[in-house]
Amino acid sequence: MTELDATSKPLSLTYAGVDRAAHHRLDEAWLAAAWSHPTTRVFVVSGGQVLVEDTPDGVELVMTPAFDAPETEQHRYFLGIDDEGVRYFALQKDSLPGRMDEPARPAGLREVGGLLSPLEAGLMVHAVALENWQRMHRFCSRCGERTVIAAAGHIRRCPACGAEHYPRTDPAVIMLVTDDEDRALLGRQVHWPEGRFSTLAGFVEPGESIEQSVRREVFEEAGVTVGAVSYVASQPWPFPSSLMLGFMAQATSADIHVDGEEIHEARWFSRDDLRAAFESGEVLPPYGISIAARLIELWYGKPLPRQGGTPAT
Ligand SMILES: [Zn+2]
Repeated sequence: MTELDATSKPLSLTYAGVDRAAHHRLDEAWLAAAWSHPTTRVFVVSGGQVLVEDTPDGVELVMTPAFDAPETEQHRYFLGIDDEGVRYFALQKDSLPGRMDEPARPAGLREVGGLLSPLEAGLMVHAVALENWQRMHRFCSRCGERTVIAAAGHIRRCPACGAEHYPRTDPAVIMLVTDDEDRALLGRQVHWPEGRFSTLAGFVEPGESIEQSVRREVFEEAGVTVGAVSYVASQPWPFPSSLMLGFMAQATSADIHVDGEEIHEARWFSRDDLRAAFESGEVLPPYGISIAARLIELWYGKPLPRQGGTPAT
């Protein structure tokens, strides 16, 4: 199809380089020792944001040894151990600590996920996903009692009925649909700015295979029927708790009928169409951090231009 290999470089947010070491999560003595170890690194997560510092090469997470981390009774998420044996924790707080003495600034994943090192991006996405889940699952879905955090942030237990609740991940499909002429179908969601086109996407429904989900979503949103579906790659997308499953999909019809609810406009683009639309500014390239950009790039055959002419990273 193209010379570009979908796995030739890691997708943003997907590679942590960290062993999650899940077997330690229930070992309180091990966790306490790891927490106070001098090489341990801790960062604070609050409302999906962390503190970062700008460097000549990008940005870095602001991490401190645990003894220097803000005090807390709980909300410590054990994230894992790297190749050097460094243990990482995130500390969930109501607000980010003020660090007036250093050039640190708050930032969210959408802004810095593609700028952090793969290791730090992986740590941040893990922490943000846990925080999102914790925030929205404070009460037992079985009996309604308030639940408590366990397993270093990875379980919520109900003291009333004994239920254990685990972090959830919601599967979503995202697909680049192509037709017989190898044109790509891109759509603009109703709440997107003029000119922002991207791949179609949607949530997998109960009782559905992911291939069925791809076909249903494309038909619902654009009125196009899809035949062959092939898996490309996945990307955690904790906004708040999705796992994006990326596909290439082959259309078996060409007429477009957008639903008008999710998708405002959809169009078939040849590569020349898309390049011309990027160059004229009629179409804005997708955000570099997202798997959508990778899927489009895979079809396009080379890195997509960015506004101003530089390729997306
Ligand atoms: Zn309960």
